[in-house]
Amino acid sequence: MSKVMQKKIGRLTILAEYEDKSLMCKCDCGNIVTRSRTLLYNGTSSSSCGCLKGKAIALGISRK
Ligand SMILES: [Zn+2]
Repeated sequence: MSKVMQKKIGRLTILAEYEDKSLMCKCDCGNIVTRSRTLLYNGTSSSSCGCLKGKAIALGISRK
């Protein structure tokens, strides 16, 4: 049984932890992504769903 904590890393809020130690996270932008817990806590994995990468581009696009 794994404890689910509301923890936020970067833009990702951890929603749930799977049995294989991967984490279901919700990004600030609303995307749900799965990340390896090890990578996330080590900071070697991106702490966003990837939207930061496209932010500069997204700013130029009007939202619906
Ligand atoms: Zn995002």
